Amino acid sequence: MDIKDKQAIVFDFGRFRNTDGEGIRTMIFFKGCPLRCKWCANPWGLSVRPQLAVNRDRCTGCETCVRVCPHGVNSIDDDGKVRVDFSKCENCGLCVLPCPAKCRQISGSSYTARELFDRVYRDLTFTRRGKSGITLSGGELLMQWEVASEVLRLCKVNYIDTCIETSGFAPWDHLKAVAQYCDSAFIDLKHMDSARHKEICGVPNERILENIRRLSDYMHERGKYIIVRHAVIPGMNDDEDNWREMAKYMATLPGLPELNVLPYHNLGELKYEMIGQEAGVTGLDMMKKSDERIERIAKLMAEYAPDTPLTIGGENAGQRPE
Ligand code: SF4
Ligand code: SF4
Ligand code: SF4
Repeated sequence: MDIKDKQAIVFDFGRFRNTDGEGIRTMIFFKGCPLRCKWCANPWGLSVRPQLAVNRDRCTGCETCVRVCPHGVNSIDDDGKVRVDFSKCENCGLCVLPCPAKCRQISGSSYTARELFDRVYRDLTFTRRGKSGITLSGGELLMQWEVASEVLRLCKVNYIDTCIETSGFAPWDHLKAVAQYCDSAFIDLKHMDSARHKEICGVPNERILENIRRLSDYMHERGKYIIVRHAVIPGMNDDEDNWREMAKYMATLPGLPELNVLPYHNLGELKYEMIGQEAGVTGLDMMKKSDERIERIAKLMAEYAPDTPLTIGGENAGQRPE
C-alpha cells in the first residue's frame, strides 16, 4: 500500500506541552505498545485497536446505552450507574453520541500521515517561530512506524522541529526510519537487569539497550540530540545497583547523551477504570524532585558518568545547547 493511503490509529493529541522536547510541543499519541509497564499512566495507548472508554462517575443511569447497544454490554448497577461488560463490547461506537451525559467515547481514530499533519499544522505554524515543534509519542509510536516516519518527513520539509518519545522496543530499521527525520529523540531506560525488566515491563531489555546505543551513535553522527529518560518508580526500579549500572552504561554511550530523570507521578488510575482494566500498581506515593532517591542518582552519575548531562523533571529535558 502506498504510504499516502496508509492509516495509523491515534488516541490523543496534545497542545502547548513543555515536558516532551525543547520549547512548546504539539503532541500526537499513537495507539499500541508492546510493553506492559506496571505503572503505565497511558493505558489507552496499550491496545493498538480503538476501544470504548466510559467515565462512570458522570453517568446518570438514563439507560440509553442499555437500549442502544446491540451486544448487551451495558446494564444498570445497584448504585444507579452503568455497568459495562467490556469483554462483550465490539467497540462499534453506537452508544457514544446518544449518551446524554457525554461519558462515553471511542479512544482511537484512524488517520493518514497527511491528515495528521494537517490536523496539527496550525499549532505548528504558531510554534515554529521559537524553539518548538512536534513530538510523536504513544503508546509506542514505532508500532506504526511507517505513518510516523511520513508525518515527521512532512514536518521536516515544512521546517518544523521534530522529536519522538519511544520505549526503544522495536527493530532497529523501524527506529532508524523514524529517527532519520528527528531533530531530537527521547528513549526510555527502565531497568538495567533484563530479568527484572521483563518482570516489571513484560519484555526483556537487550533490544532496548542495543537500540539506545545505536540511536546515540546515529543521532550524534548527524549532530542531533538524544535524551535517555529514566522514570523512577518506587519499588520497581529504585534500587542502588540498578542506578549504578545505569550510570556506568550512560558513560559508554556515543556522544554522551543527556540522562533525564523523572520522579514518579501517577495520573493513570481513572483511565484504567474507564476501559475496564486494573492498574498494575496502585497507591504509590508521588515523588518530588527533592526526593532523596533523585539525589542518590545524581551522586552515582557524578561518580560514574561525570561528563553525562543530567536533568531532573520533564520540563528541563532536551534543552539543546546553542
Ligand atoms: S461500543 Fe458498541 S458494542 Fe460497545 S457498548 Fe457501545 S454500542 Fe455496545
Ligand atoms: S447513556 Fe450514558 S448516562 Fe445513560 S446510562 Fe449509559 S453511560 Fe449512563
Ligand atoms: S512503554 Fe510507555 S506506553 Fe508502553 S507500557 Fe510502558 S509506560 Fe506504558
